[in-house]
Formats: sequence, structure tokens, C-alpha cells
Amino acid sequence: ERLVGAEADGDDQAVEAALRPKELGEFVGQSKVREQLDLVLKAARQRGGTADHVLLSGAPGLGKTTLSMIIASEMSAPIRITSGPAIQHAGDLAAILSSLQEGEVLFLDEIHRMSRPAEEMLYMAMEDFRVDVIVGKGPGATAIPLELPPFTLVGATTRAGLLPPPLRDRFGFTGHMEFYEPEELERVIHRSARLLDVDTDEEGAAEIAGRSRGTPRIANRLLRRVRDYAQVKADGAINREIAGRALDVYEVDARGLDRLDRSVLGALLKLFGGGPVGLSTLSVAVGEERETVEEVAEPFLVREGLLARTPRGRVATPAAWAHLGLTPPQQGPH
Ligand code: ADP
Repeated sequence: ERLVGAEADGDDQAVEAALRPKELGEFVGQSKVREQLDLVLKAARQRGGTADHVLLSGAPGLGKTTLSMIIASEMSAPIRITSGPAIQHAGDLAAILSSLQEGEVLFLDEIHRMSRPAEEMLYMAMEDFRVDVIVGKGPGATAIPLELPPFTLVGATTRAGLLPPPLRDRFGFTGHMEFYEPEELERVIHRSARLLDVDTDEEGAAEIAGRSRGTPRIANRLLRRVRDYAQVKADGAINREIAGRALDVYEVDARGLDRLDRSVLGALLKLFGGGPVGLSTLSVAVGEERETVEEVAEPFLVREGLLARTPRGRVATPAAWAHLGLTPPQQGPH
């Protein structure tokens, strides 16, 4: 598991429940989504009905699960949490849908990874609050329609564009979650530090925020590692120096790059003069699988403007040379 990976690891799951904001007012940042959702929920409450289905799109760790729980709590409704990959057969979905209570929130994480038959069952359930349960097999099979109580589906996906249009169109509201600004992550860190009872000053929080890759889950994880360091190596309080030293130990640099990111960037600069170089060659040079380089390291390097993917191969940007403290080679005479 990477310290700067955005997916939840076992350690995260244990503490995340405690660190999750419980109401919309406590949820940091994402002001557009928050304002829009606030209207959707208030209007539904005034009508005394169930909120429209909500689609949340955005990278892992940005707060989609947290928002779905907030939706349930603002609607004073229970919540059921499941995910696309967990629903292999339409029957799995039918079982969940038919056991929902009126007004319940169903959170479906990674909704784009649901099986096709389940997806088609979901269309009808979302639109008409009805499913057809198939009884029997072969030519004798019959579809028995089953009425469902009104419920609110909250779907989460990394990109709304991954969903087939008929599914996307059945959501009344889509919220796009953005990466967080450093100031917003500082607020997340101060809030978590308070809940974890760790003394953290402004600069210490800023130091952690700058290395958190725009992602609250990573910010909370780095905070916990810095807390360990502060406790073992100092008096427990977190300031800029302690945070910097702790994250140096964990090899997370000032911009949030870890060892893998720096090794990819370092090879691109030092062995290939900044590129262009093909993905396979670059992967061999760093001794990693192609997929690891392409899917784990590159997205953040591209987002940070350190690496570009071009038709001729991977190319380092001037910012990459500056970040690793190297000088780009002189251009040859033309
Ligand atoms: P996702 O479902 O998008 O992967 P989560 O909702 O599980 O992300 O959030 C990951 C962690 O980050 C949780 O511990 C949560 O408390 C924290 N978090 C996410 N967004 C916020 C936010 N806007 N304010 C405060 N904490 C947040």
C-alpha cells in the first residue's frame, strides 16, 4: 500500500468513520456541489418526499462516501452501502432493492463497474420504483413485477463519462467533485487533528496539506503518520519542522511525490534526457510493470504538470527538471 495512494487501506477504514463530517456545514470545500446539494435536499424535505437520485463523480478519497452519508443524515433516512463490483448478478441487486425502506439512501460506489443485467434492472428501479423478478428458468421463466418503496440512489464513479447515457440520464443531479486546494486541506487537517486530539500549528498543517495531492483521505493518512513521528521523536506537537522531517522519513516530498513517482521522473530525466521515450522502455528502466507506471505513477505526474504523454512518448516538462533540481541539457545548434 502506498502512503500517497488515494484508495482506502485497512488502516484508513478503521479511523475514517471517526473523521467523517456528519453534516453538510462541516464538509470542507466543494462549495458548488455543497450549494447545489443543499438545494436538492431542502426542496425534497419541504415537499416531504424523497430526494432525487444523485450521481457523484470524482477521484477516490475526495469525499463521495462521506457526502452520501450526509445526504442520508440530512434526510433523516437510513443508508445502505454497496458497490458495483459487489453486484455480480441482477438477483443480488433485486435482493438489495426489495429490502429497502421508504426514503432509504442506497449508496452504490463504483457504479460503472456493475454487471450489464444489474444495470438494466437499475434503470427501471430508478425510474418507476419497480423491478421484474424472474422466477424459473428457460421457456417457463416468468417475470413477476415487484413494487419498491421510493428511495434515493447515490451513485459514485470516478468519471461520469464512464456511465452509459441511459443510466446517467436517470440521475436528477450530478455533482462533480474537484481536487482540494491546499487551504481547504489545511482545514481538513485542523479538523482531524482536533478529533484525534493532536496539537498542530498553522505551518505544520500547511506542510502536510502541500504533500497531500489534493485529497482529504491522503491528508488524514499523512497526519496520522506525522502524529506517530511527533509522539516518538518529539513532544507530540506538530509544527512545520516535525511534519517535514516525518514525511521525509516516509519519502513523501514537498510536492507529494513518493519514491515511485520520483524514480519514474528521475529515469525520464537522467537516462532519457527528458524524453520522448516509450512507456515500455521507461518501465523497464525503473524496474516496474508498465501498468504500474501508467496507472499508478503517471496520472499524478501529468496532473502536476511534470510529465506529458505525447504521441512520440513520455516527455518531461521544465517543471520536472526544476523539481528534481536538475539542469536540462543544452539544445544543440540548429
Ligand atoms: P471517497 O468515497 O470519495 O473515496 P470518502 O468519503 O471515503 O472518499 O473520504 C475519505 C476520507 O476523507 C474520509 O475520512 C473523510 O472523512 C475525509 N474527507 C473527505 N472529504 C472531506 C471533506 N470535504 N471535509 C472533511 N473530510 C473529508
